[in-house]
Amino acid sequence: KKITIAIDGFSSTGKSTLAKQLAKALGYVYVDTGAMYRAVAFFAMQNNWISEVEIAKDQIVKSLVNIKLHFQFNPSLGFAEMYLNGNNVENEIRSLSVSQNVSRIAEISEVRSKLVEQQQEMGKEKAVVMDGRDIGTVVFPDAELKIFMTASSRTRAQRRFEELVEKGQRVTFEEVLENVEKRDYIDTHRIDSPLVKAEDAVVLDNSTLSKEEQFQLVLQLVHD
Ligand code: C5P
Repeated sequence: KKITIAIDGFSSTGKSTLAKQLAKALGYVYVDTGAMYRAVAFFAMQNNWISEVEIAKDQIVKSLVNIKLHFQFNPSLGFAEMYLNGNNVENEIRSLSVSQNVSRIAEISEVRSKLVEQQQEMGKEKAVVMDGRDIGTVVFPDAELKIFMTASSRTRAQRRFEELVEKGQRVTFEEVLENVEKRDYIDTHRIDSPLVKAEDAVVLDNSTLSKEEQFQLVLQLVHD
């Protein structure tokens, strides 16, 4: 059995759906690292440290000691929810406004090193399925199994659009597509830990595979 499973890839490729499914089937802990970056972005937004044009980077870095993140398993949902300084922020961090700001926060090296350290800690004792952008390359370069998920930006934007509409958010497909493409650009071009496929990662393209096919394929890899 594999102990650490790293799932990386572009936004809205179904990483979390697959990761949750796997964690459940294998009895592993699921860790959504994107939620941690989102929570830091939400914290900065609440303090008005993010505007269209600039980010109060120094303020954010100085305040990192005051940002306490933890996951708490919610049995009725079957996965862990994100808490920021003791408050459940699961809904807040999924809004389009947080999505629009999070990649700029994730560019800050000090933010990354703090979160990476916490993620490594979480994977030390327990078997985990962790999803993100740098899990197979930075957080767990020795992960037993690495998956890299991809799909066209339109396919991904359509998915995300439907999710947001379902949650009652007023967004247009174009806004969501623009956000997905902007995040891809920032995520792949940042200096610190850019989004790249780990050399030894298995590529899954969800334009060609159904969710169930992906799940079965990865389950097979775990047992190989
Ligand atoms: O996975 P999710 O879309 O929720 O992640 C939100 C953002 O957080 C990503 O677009 C990326 O900028 C950042 N992120 C990251 N490294 C991770 C996870 C997320 O930079 N491991």
